[in-house]
Amino acid sequence: MRYISTRGTAPEIGFCDVLLAGLARDGGLYVPQTWPKFNELSGGAAHAPTNSRGTAGYAHRAASIMAPFIGDEIDPIVFQQLCVNAYSTFRHPDVAPLVEIAPDEYLLELFHGPTLAFKDIALQLVGKLFDHVLAQRNERVMIVGATSGDTGGAAFDGVASCRNVDIVMLYPNNRVSDVQRRQMTTVMSPNVHAVSVDGTFDDCQDLVKAMFNDQKFRDANQLSAVNSINWVRVMAQVVYYFTALEKLGDSAVFSVPTGNFGNVLAGWIAKQMGASIDGFVVASNTNDILTRFFESQQMTANDVVATLSPSMDIQVSSNFERLLFEMNNRDGAATAKQLVDFRKAGELSVAPNVYNKWITGVFAGYRCDDEQTLATMKDVYQKSAMLIDPHTAVGLSAARQSVGVNYPKGQSIVTLATAHPAKFPDAVRRATGQTPKLPEHLADLMSRPERIVSLPNSLKAVQAFVTGCR
Ligand SMILES: *Cc1c(COP(=O)(O)O)cnc(C)c1O
Repeated sequence: MRYISTRGTAPEIGFCDVLLAGLARDGGLYVPQTWPKFNELSGGAAHAPTNSRGTAGYAHRAASIMAPFIGDEIDPIVFQQLCVNAYSTFRHPDVAPLVEIAPDEYLLELFHGPTLAFKDIALQLVGKLFDHVLAQRNERVMIVGATSGDTGGAAFDGVASCRNVDIVMLYPNNRVSDVQRRQMTTVMSPNVHAVSVDGTFDDCQDLVKAMFNDQKFRDANQLSAVNSINWVRVMAQVVYYFTALEKLGDSAVFSVPTGNFGNVLAGWIAKQMGASIDGFVVASNTNDILTRFFESQQMTANDVVATLSPSMDIQVSSNFERLLFEMNNRDGAATAKQLVDFRKAGELSVAPNVYNKWITGVFAGYRCDDEQTLATMKDVYQKSAMLIDPHTAVGLSAARQSVGVNYPKGQSIVTLATAHPAKFPDAVRRATGQTPKLPEHLADLMSRPERIVSLPNSLKAVQAFVTGCR
């Protein structure tokens, strides 16, 4: 399997180079040359090796679903073992359990990993892959990234024990929760650096993009990325759409709380591969650029506002570029022009025939403000004594809004539960009066010492810091 850039001019490369590169040289994102079909809808798991927590069944399944994306670059037995190791850190034997909360209404719980957000599912594997590939090549990389809250902790946990990786994560000052910040600042491994930037998440993301686009700096520092622009993140997320459908034994609509569009894109890829998905509800908080796009076929950027679901406080959804590339019939030059124009004018529109072909009947966008988020959390607590986190609540609210509009009553809808409620205790308390407990391995998180670095929103300052970390 070879990979091409969404902007059309970067050279074609294989899986291991895609893993290490993150962003393509032409500023685009890597996608596989073709979408493979996955037909093996039974078997596999039965032959899985076991481990103490029983997560090997999921790991084995994951290895076979992802196999076509890796091609012959990693030995299949080695890759399977990397998956087993990656998912051995999860606290639930199913890794991603499916829970029915009402008739036809399900949550796919993606928060049983070490840092309590769905990002662990990809980043635990990414850490194992980095270690494997870098040891083989005898190379060292500097991962730089931006986090709206959850990527940072998940990436640190994934790579803290990697021998050949340094990592710098930028996060927006005062816009991540205390738990999220502490999951970064309390990691004491010397190769791991959390940096608070005086700006928004989009500012942090722009700083990272600028570092990647500075070719001299990029090469001198061996830059690498684990943001959801990294193909391997998206690839690892394709898996749970398949496993959820297998558990359900039926087709389904997925409602996905969305920020950078990575998680929902992974679902769209599963659908291209043959998963029986009836459609996607793209759930946004008040930062609703995608909802407005689905309403008007026009993308216009607004300022970011802070909400109760901070991991979705994003206006420019970077992974949307991969879908746009498909909508342009994989024309990289057209995609590049559209995105450069969007940067300049803050506006991007799609022709009605293109929109109808790719979006209509596949994606429906809904927004959910803080008040609706709290009401949904409260409703779930009252009806099923369950605590859900604010991001999951945005997804569930959107799913409920779509029933009777896009989908008939009786349609199975699976909402992705993207974070553990204890990651956002203040919002949970406001909605339900209950304080969710952190799992045992994090019980003392709030009293651990922190290591904090603060920098201005300045490319120069951030580049100097990164250089000093190597
Ligand atoms: C990152 C994150 C999201 C958004 O996911 P995208 O792939 O960026 O769309 C939603 N919920 C939680 C809890 C997250 O951490």
